Amino acid sequence: MKSIYLLLIVGSYGFGSCNQDVKSEEPENTIETPEQQPKVKPKNIIFMIGDGMGLTQITAGMIAKKDNLNLERCPIIGLSKTESADNIITDSAAGATAFSTGVKTYNGAIGVGTDTLPLKNIIEIVETHNIATGLVATASITHATPASFIAHQKSRFMDQEIAADFLNTDIDVFIGGGKTHFTQREDQQNLLKQLEEKGYHIATGIEEVEAVGDGKLAGFIADDHPVKMSEGRGDVLTRATKAAINLLVMGDKGFFLMVEGSQIDWGGHANESDYIISEMIDFDNTIGAVLDFAEKNGETLVIITADHETGGYAINGGDRAAGTVDGAFTTDYHTATMVPVFAFGPGAEIFSGIYQNTAIFNKMLASYGISIE
Ligand code: MG
Ligand code: ZN
Repeated sequence: MKSIYLLLIVGSYGFGSCNQDVKSEEPENTIETPEQQPKVKPKNIIFMIGDGMGLTQITAGMIAKKDNLNLERCPIIGLSKTESADNIITDSAAGATAFSTGVKTYNGAIGVGTDTLPLKNIIEIVETHNIATGLVATASITHATPASFIAHQKSRFMDQEIAADFLNTDIDVFIGGGKTHFTQREDQQNLLKQLEEKGYHIATGIEEVEAVGDGKLAGFIADDHPVKMSEGRGDVLTRATKAAINLLVMGDKGFFLMVEGSQIDWGGHANESDYIISEMIDFDNTIGAVLDFAEKNGETLVIITADHETGGYAINGGDRAAGTVDGAFTTDYHTATMVPVFAFGPGAEIFSGIYQNTAIFNKMLASYGISIE
């Protein structure tokens, strides 16, 4: 009803009008109108980010996977506006900080505002409600996207400081690369020792990760960044995600898990279709495992989106039967195009529409029934 009403106002007065009713519309990134409360609140949220995963990356994966993308199982689709506070083209730090804090910041910022001061992130917020938390990535766990959910640093390149920030939280599970940022440090500290003292199981390699049956977990699947799919990474993202879910689901207050398909973006930077497609398919396989869990569990909201598109990727031809595309690129950096948001499970309906990336933070908190301020 509300959108029809607004349409009528615009129709009556036109876009150039100074009419008070039109001007009193709320700015786009302050949301939480009543209709954005979910009908049924989920207990758990799994938030999945395909870094650099624009619509073309998805389409290329869809063609390669012969129309069997798990993403197609999501009934609700939205569009997210990705620009950062200081640039029409966001980087992954500002993009992830928008998701994790609901605030647009400058490119390179890790969980801090334009004033470089820390912003409360969703992990810190839900932890105070005894909701279990986790991060999984196919990059170093200190890389921009996962870092923005846990750390507060003025630059994404401060890996050692970001690693130390893991000790300042009560995150239950994190699995990714980047072990050396915890062990080979300028301050000579061994953060793994300190994590152990805080009660974490330390696991190296996916088998050790999977062997942890309870409690907190710091899991490392590489010393630096995990290798590409084409270099034999295998299905560690799916296995790590399942392992994280198995641990997080034991809490009785629900959980929040962020899962990143980190390297779709790196395929875009490299302007390599094959790299994009293999990483896209890996991410989609993980999406399949997550949706299978959510389907069975019945209390889990799954949101899948990207921080931005990478490469200005286009499909200028191809062969559907062979599952191949003729990819073309306009840039080796990111672009400003909107990215899709897919949602599945209780509360999914509030993710339809077109909105700022920061609205995803607000929608996730609304889904948990948590209000801030
Ligand atoms: Mg990333
Ligand atoms: Zn990038």
